Amino acid sequence: MKNLLRPIIASAALLIVASGVQAQDMLAAQSPLDKQMMLVDSIALRDILLNEENMFPADELYAEWSNDHVRFKAELPDSFRVDLRGFVMPTTNTKITDIFGYRPRRRRVHNGLDIKVQRGDTIRSAFDGKVRMASYQRRGYGHYIVIRHTNGIETVYAHLSKKLVVQDQNVKAGQPIGLGGNTGRSTGAHLHFETLLAGKNLNPALMFDFEKQDVTGDFYTYRKGVYQEVDRKTGKIVESAEPLYHKVRKGESLSVIARKCGVSVNTLYRLNKLNSRSVLRIGQRIRYR
Ligand SMILES: [Zn+2]
Repeated sequence: MKNLLRPIIASAALLIVASGVQAQDMLAAQSPLDKQMMLVDSIALRDILLNEENMFPADELYAEWSNDHVRFKAELPDSFRVDLRGFVMPTTNTKITDIFGYRPRRRRVHNGLDIKVQRGDTIRSAFDGKVRMASYQRRGYGHYIVIRHTNGIETVYAHLSKKLVVQDQNVKAGQPIGLGGNTGRSTGAHLHFETLLAGKNLNPALMFDFEKQDVTGDFYTYRKGVYQEVDRKTGKIVESAEPLYHKVRKGESLSVIARKCGVSVNTLYRLNKLNSRSVLRIGQRIRYR
């Protein structure tokens, strides 16, 4: 997308007439014409370059392009604002069948949101972007698509019955990219949908509200080290310190863990939906913050 820069720079001279001259009136009275033009030119160019950065935040975040891994690791900034305007919901289905996060019962992390779909339902690209992967995993994602969007987010669409795009293809927001299905490790047709920022899985619910078929706002801001949740009642994003976990070792009870972690047993009950009758397993993750 960097090559888009050239035609924009080429149009700089035209823009100077439109925007730069007024702001430069003061200088115009004092400086010779050629110098004056250079000044205006550089100011206009700087503005255009700034706009350019805002237009393609993905270029700032990811130095490279690769078709190898779903998780494309890049250095995460301390905060990153994602422009959600211009979104299209990946599916018109509204029923969430599994949420994002750690699931104690299955002892694994769910990296995305599951949305109920029917086999053959159209799945659409959430934003403009380019298909980084269009691949197949028999035991995992089944048929899946990974798209890098111009706004910096990467999205994953899994368990598709059919892929409608190919690797390295440019896509528009709302463009059909696949059909809903039940391929890979899946029980029942559903869309497994992930949102990644520089290889880090973020909760898609922070950006997409499938029930309301809308985004959570015009912008979503990621903040390093901050835990974000969507308040069920207000729909607003609530921020708190990132959660911390303790792994249960042999012989440890909740009161022992509470003492080690410097919190009350009640805090552990609340954060882990446990009670005094709960039995701990060795290796179980107990959230203490
Ligand atoms: Zn899933």
